[in-house]
Amino acid sequence: MTVGIVGAGQLGRMMALAGYPLGLEFLFLDKDAGTPAAQLAPQLTGAFTDPALLDELARRCEVVTLDWENVPVDALARIASATRVAPPLPALAAAQDRLAEKTLFTQLRIPTNAHAAVDSRADLDRAVAAIGLPGVLKTRRLGYDGKGQAVLRTGADVEAAWGQLGTQPLLYEAFVPFDYEVSLIGVRSLTGEIATYPLNRNLHRDGILRLTRAPWHAPVVEQAARRHMRRVLAHFDYAGVLTIEFFVRRGKLIANEMAPRVHNSGHWTIEGAVTSQFENHLRAILGLPLGLTQAVGHSAMLNLIGEMPDRAALLADKSLFLHDYGKTARPGRKLGHVTLTESTARRRDQRAAALLKRIDSRKI
Ligand code: AMP
Repeated sequence: MTVGIVGAGQLGRMMALAGYPLGLEFLFLDKDAGTPAAQLAPQLTGAFTDPALLDELARRCEVVTLDWENVPVDALARIASATRVAPPLPALAAAQDRLAEKTLFTQLRIPTNAHAAVDSRADLDRAVAAIGLPGVLKTRRLGYDGKGQAVLRTGADVEAAWGQLGTQPLLYEAFVPFDYEVSLIGVRSLTGEIATYPLNRNLHRDGILRLTRAPWHAPVVEQAARRHMRRVLAHFDYAGVLTIEFFVRRGKLIANEMAPRVHNSGHWTIEGAVTSQFENHLRAILGLPLGLTQAVGHSAMLNLIGEMPDRAALLADKSLFLHDYGKTARPGRKLGHVTLTESTARRRDQRAAALLKRIDSRKI
């Protein structure tokens, strides 16, 4: 049984690594050669919108899923009659547009921050007047890892932000002085079976995820996040893994965004949960029973960004798991991650803080 994956980055690579023990095969589609996933599975190379390549993917695969959520929905709609595409395209369309995403949260009574669409300079002035400062101006489409965003702190920042981003549809939203950030990873199978992972606490730096700790013990917040997750999964009759990112302020959740796919904040599940998010995504889109999502111990996952630390120095820590995505180093690029698992949350937090410091100061 072959699973088609559009996008052949590290998420696709880790899906393949999780799927081989289940006897699955994989076929990727990506615009670049030499991708992280192409190092272990066959790949069709060309544009994500190339009709011939998409048709071939549909012909050769039981189901087609995604490693990258910004694949044009129209291109996938073309193959949806020839094969099954999961997650559902309406979920993908909502996640590709920050305005549609916020509208969905509001419709499903999931609290989110004040926001307004900005299509002109006059719209921006109106949005800033209505929502106030500070705020964040974001591109509605194709933003990731903090790209395509500008924080507006004073009136003087408005012009510069407009100059930087003003050529495309935008969203202006209230800046949230959050206490911390969390994400929840949920999974729904074709059969309707639902499971959620323990809550993740996430630390971002320059818009990029640096550290995830899970399970994060915040029972009230976690319960609310689970309720919100179930609403989104049910709304779309969803199949696969879905991630929702939230800000936490004074014990309350404010939804930031969702990703219709396996997520960086769920990488710890490879070693830190009974069944990884990657395996459960595959089980879900194939209509197989889901595996247990319980944590095994207390995990911390640190991203390796920009340059790879010394492999031997990392592995000298005998209870650390290294994942190298096989990418060429480039500033700001996610090249790999490490996960450590401990018997208590306190010990995990101490080790994670020490390791983050060593990696940041290039002592490793
Ligand atoms: P995003 O691409 O929207 O997930 O933004 C990346 C990161 O920027 C978030 O995880 C936050 O750390 C920060 N950020 C984004 N939007 C806001 C906001 N409205 N208020 C405060 N911080 C934000």
